[in-house]
Amino acid sequence: MAVLIDGKKISQEIKDEVRDEISKKGIQASLAVIIVGDDPASRVYVRNKKEACEYCGIRSLSYELPEETAEEELLALINKLNADDSVDGILVQLPLPDHINEDSIIEAIDPMKDVDGFSRRSVGALSIGTKGFVSCTPAGIIELLKRSGIEIAGKECVVMGRSNIVGKPMAMLMLRENATVTVVHSRTRHIEDICRRADILIVAIGKPRLITHDYVKDGAVVIDVGIHRVDPDTNNGRKLCGDVDFDEVSQIASAITPVPGGVGPMTIAMLMKNVLLSAGNKIK
Ligand code: NAP
Repeated sequence: MAVLIDGKKISQEIKDEVRDEISKKGIQASLAVIIVGDDPASRVYVRNKKEACEYCGIRSLSYELPEETAEEELLALINKLNADDSVDGILVQLPLPDHINEDSIIEAIDPMKDVDGFSRRSVGALSIGTKGFVSCTPAGIIELLKRSGIEIAGKECVVMGRSNIVGKPMAMLMLRENATVTVVHSRTRHIEDICRRADILIVAIGKPRLITHDYVKDGAVVIDVGIHRVDPDTNNGRKLCGDVDFDEVSQIASAITPVPGGVGPMTIAMLMKNVLLSAGNKIK
């Protein structure tokens, strides 16, 4: 039976470290969070981010804009926050309404305040190995592995999924940690065979419980990034499940992240860390 990689505990450790550093060094850190429209899931994420800021001693500024906000208005707000020296990080909650171009909005954020790490400059810095913000979910996975004592260097890692916010930055980070990395996606042939080569399998495909023991080598470490609100077995909307069939895979993996309580809580903890890095000028 696999060891559980406890994201709840590790994310708490990281938030405590951020809080201690802020209070010991008297750092003034602040995060501006912008949400457009009233998507219920986005509202929950924004509320959780505000609570984490409060816990860590980070000032949070909240901008809740109506669905019909024009792209120019949003750009004007971002420009104002870019120019405000008291703001260390700017986060625009995605997705945005269809009439707003997400790419233009992300690119408008000052790269020195891009704490989500989604801008071209941040992604480019990650690719070539220079200083920059790393997007929070992949960065959180590296912390989960390291703080669970799992060695990365020299290991075969397969990343399932190639999205800009998870799969691609994840692959770059594992490469930076000296793993041998393969990325698979919906067009990959012989995918199960490739996944079974992995010492570390990172799954970010957005398909509830698709990954069964057929994809996993005995003793592999399995990281499940997926979050789905409906469990396909029980159809119970209150239960969360991941991309991995936990009951089956936990029988053969050596270590595994649960859903909930695995990767999910790490994203906000790493956001807090990025705001602290920005406030301490550690990205420049
Ligand atoms: P996405 O943008 O939908 O990308 C999914 C990726 O998986 C695509 O590259 C797709 O391939 C690939 N894929 C789909 N079906 C596949 C299959 N059967 N076999 C192999 N590859 C397949 O999703 P995402 O934004 O990366 O998110 C992935 C999951 O992580 C979602 O469940 C999301 O909710 C969750 N998530 C969690 C967090 C967190 O904080 N824990 C953060 C972000 C996302 P193609 O490119 O060929 O289409």
